[in-house]
Amino acid sequence: MKESFKKNDMVTLEITDLGSSGEGIGKVDGFTLFVKDALIGDVIQAKIIKLKKNYGYGRLMEILTPSPSRVEARCPQARACGGCQIQPLAYEKQLEYKENKVKELLERVGKVQDYVMEPIIGMKEPWYYRNKAQFPVGKTKEGEIVTGFYAGRTHSIIPVEECFIQHSLNQELMAIVRQWMQAYDVQPYNEASHTGLVRHIFTRIGKYTGEVMVCLVINGKKIPKEAELVECLKKVPGMTSICLNINREKTNVILGSTVKCLWGQPYITDKIGDIAYRISPLSFFQVNPIQTQKLYSTALEYAGLTGNETVWDLYCGIGTISLFLAKSAKKVYGVEIVPEAIDDAKENAQLNGIENAEFFVGKAEEVLPEQYEKNGVYADVIVVDPPRKGCDEKLLQCMVQMAPKRIVYVSCDPATLARDLGFLEANGYKVEKVRCTDMFPHSTHVESVVLLEKRKKKPDSYVDLTVDVEDYR
Ligand code: SAH
Repeated sequence: MKESFKKNDMVTLEITDLGSSGEGIGKVDGFTLFVKDALIGDVIQAKIIKLKKNYGYGRLMEILTPSPSRVEARCPQARACGGCQIQPLAYEKQLEYKENKVKELLERVGKVQDYVMEPIIGMKEPWYYRNKAQFPVGKTKEGEIVTGFYAGRTHSIIPVEECFIQHSLNQELMAIVRQWMQAYDVQPYNEASHTGLVRHIFTRIGKYTGEVMVCLVINGKKIPKEAELVECLKKVPGMTSICLNINREKTNVILGSTVKCLWGQPYITDKIGDIAYRISPLSFFQVNPIQTQKLYSTALEYAGLTGNETVWDLYCGIGTISLFLAKSAKKVYGVEIVPEAIDDAKENAQLNGIENAEFFVGKAEEVLPEQYEKNGVYADVIVVDPPRKGCDEKLLQCMVQMAPKRIVYVSCDPATLARDLGFLEANGYKVEKVRCTDMFPHSTHVESVVLLEKRKKKPDSYVDLTVDVEDYR
């Protein structure tokens, strides 16, 4: 069919799905086209800009019939920014899309059947939800300091006064730093020439404590007129931590590995439920505190704890889920690959007077098998919360051997989740319940929690993971 299309051809198509970056997907004569900025339900005219063997890319030229789910994006920069890929989709339709995506992947890739899909947990007010911001700093041709986001794949910065998914205090914080830079001629970093000083302004704001952190990411060791900047920032209500992060690398990774505290403490504290967490600039912490509480509550509910259980929390980060579960369990063991995160986890346990949590540094797929083989460790419940690539097969095999009553799988990528559930279902477990939480409104990301229960009989042999998830994204 491809033979019939050429570059620059104009085609008319209806968008029927969204890709992982929010691009519209539709078919013309059976040929799949990806079209940025088109939404499910739009009938569009597109120009073919790239052809591959089995699919192509189109540019949106005109929306002939807008999707009934189309709304005006609240942010005038939504299309250029790309942070909120599906902002023009009505919020309830975003939720429907995410839930369907998870369901479809679980059934098609994981071959999961006969389970309860509980309704997705959306936000009442899906705006200003993020507790962490990182704005690049630049300069206009006229020499004015700007903060905003990078335009497409360029080094120029589109100024943004207000980002509607960030805490509104960020506007004031950005303005203070811009004014200080302007007043003392402090240069922004230039990515192309690797010159200049201030790369990003990184902020964290505690949802429940109101504590504020401002961290300037710099291409240098110190800043000029430090006292003047501190003087202005410390007057902001809630200011707790003013830091520098040193990043002298030629990289688009935002943070470097060294943090220097200029004023206050090198961390803020925030709470999820009853548990307080100490968060430093380099710690991983969920960015949507309202939804995190709901996500962890689902994990707690699915874990079905009575106070007598031994729980393993794999990929535990700074111990967020471990500590959330600890008061309902006999003992919780956390495993995490980043040593600094485990330092935070231990500190957080102490901060909350939790004595039944123990933490291990290392790869989950190495630590758990080692502990199981050497020390015969046991689990009533295993919780996993892996990064996007999902669980290592060695880990899944060890989990199956340990045969916990329940496995709670927290996932940020439904494709790898589906693959791993397929493995667990083929090896003695049954998916009972699934519940999605919308942690990132206006983006295509979705977080899921799944409860698996042990079937009666332990398997004699293992079925391999044979699905290549890249085919299904
Ligand atoms: N459960 C935590 C963190 C989840 S993010 C929370 O909710 O905050 C996933 C974590 O897995 C990250 O902290 C990452 O550093 C860690 N990680 C990545 N690969 C790992 C591996 N092979 N073994 C253990 N931890 C790993």
